[in-house]
Amino acid sequence: MADEVVEKDLPVFRRAQRKLRDVFEAGAAGRDADAVAELNGLLEAYPIQPRISGHKDDGPDWHMHVTSRGSSVSAEYLAGAAWGLAVWLCEFGSARFGVCADERCGNVYLDTSSNNCRRFCSERCATRSHVAAHRARKKAAVDESALAVAGV
Ligand SMILES: [Zn+2]
Ligand SMILES: [Zn+2]
Repeated sequence: MADEVVEKDLPVFRRAQRKLRDVFEAGAAGRDADAVAELNGLLEAYPIQPRISGHKDDGPDWHMHVTSRGSSVSAEYLAGAAWGLAVWLCEFGSARFGVCADERCGNVYLDTSSNNCRRFCSERCATRSHVAAHRARKKAAVDESALAVAGV
């Protein structure tokens, strides 16, 4: 897809980026009906039209495309994204949509953990956040003992 993307796909992606994010923010905040309304909007804006396609000259590599032949990369990508998220929501519920708890990150994620307890988009954010919390606790302890030594 990266080879086929063109300039006019960019504004479409940027607009949709905000809309996709709204789905995750609504789900993460427990606003179930809002997440559904946002997704229904996306499904309407980026409708799917399934089609089997192949690109190899030396034999079939059949796979599914979700828009009609000649559709833009943004239309194909966003139809797939909206459809995938909609199926996910119906299957697992909107509470599985999350926004990374590391405020310097802000990425969104789908919680695939068995007990729906994920808070970060990645291991990297989880580790960074835990290290930062550990340092803050350590610094607080050091500050406290410094005050004790100073007799405050
Ligand atoms: Zn293809
Ligand atoms: Zn993150």
